[in-house]
Amino acid sequence: MLLDTHGRVATDLRVSLTDRCNLRCTYCMPEEGLQWLAKPELLTDDEIVRLIGTAVTLLGVTEVRFTGGEPLLRRGLASIVERCAALAPRPRMSLTTNGIGLRRTAAALRDAGLDRVNVSLDTLRPEVFKTLTRRDRHQDVLDGLLAAREAGLTPVKVNTVLMPGLNDDEAPDLLAWAVEHSYELRFIEQMPLDAQHGWKREGMITAGDILESLRTRFTLTPEQDERRGSAPAERWIVDGGPHRVGVIGSVTRPFCHACDRTRLTADGQVRNCLFAREETDLRGALRSGASDEELAAIWRQAMWGKKAGSGLDDPSFLQPDRPMSAIGG
Ligand code: SAM
Ligand code: SF4
Repeated sequence: MLLDTHGRVATDLRVSLTDRCNLRCTYCMPEEGLQWLAKPELLTDDEIVRLIGTAVTLLGVTEVRFTGGEPLLRRGLASIVERCAALAPRPRMSLTTNGIGLRRTAAALRDAGLDRVNVSLDTLRPEVFKTLTRRDRHQDVLDGLLAAREAGLTPVKVNTVLMPGLNDDEAPDLLAWAVEHSYELRFIEQMPLDAQHGWKREGMITAGDILESLRTRFTLTPEQDERRGSAPAERWIVDGGPHRVGVIGSVTRPFCHACDRTRLTADGQVRNCLFAREETDLRGALRSGASDEELAAIWRQAMWGKKAGSGLDDPSFLQPDRPMSAIGG
């Protein structure tokens, strides 16, 4: 098990497959100037499958989420999914993607064994999309979403970050659209994980703001769900159901006490928290010939030292050196 000193057990593994991306979302990446990881530093497909296999067979991981950067940019993605689907016990597998390219790949990913997707989309307005992501690809994302639903990668979840002055007036429109298309919308509070270190607490759109805005058009009833457990999203039933909406208040409503995540970066470092300032090198051990049991022991040790909380609420909080795109969101 991946246990920590606060009694939490990590069963949900986030694997970053690349730090590269075809968008430049303002809350995540700068327009230019970000240094990419060099190819030799990146884990190969075989190394990724071996480490996921170690996590699943020796460490109790039951959920694997592929992310990045943009995971659809990784050529070997379908084959990685297929090989992980053959593990025993088979993990549940999902993908967090900006949706570009999903139209082409959704069916193949489902056939390979992917269970579901989260697609990130912050706006219904193509012009705002262009400003937020610095690329003119709005329609590609909408097409990708449809393809995911048609391929049965369901429930299709949509991740939305609201930015002041850009899309913070869109929450009710986004929810009406999500209900119409049977996507499950989840708003995520903006976190201090951008490469430019431009995050400011003042002015950020909080979970409270989002709920207030949604309630101007919808009746929201808190979901009483025993299964919520460690899920970060608080969920509300929309207008009596069956649709739900989630709000992930990582900054103002942290859920660290119930966190069940462990993370592997594209260059083979274990992170025990999104906000951790230390990483543990698995790639070095792997390439020096460590056995699966030895890798598992290093991973266990890395998780044992997980802090109680993200520290976001502490005035001395320091942003991690790596941005979200390199950690794997
Ligand atoms: N490129 C893929 C995507 O955009 O879905 C996967 C990686 S991205 C880093 C994962 C998620 O993190 C996205 O939903 C994105 O909106 C979110 N994200 C990125 N930077 C963020 C930030 N500073 N605060 C909150 N969420 C952020
Ligand atoms: Fe790329 Fe995702 Fe970051 Fe946007 S949030 S720049 S799509 S990695």
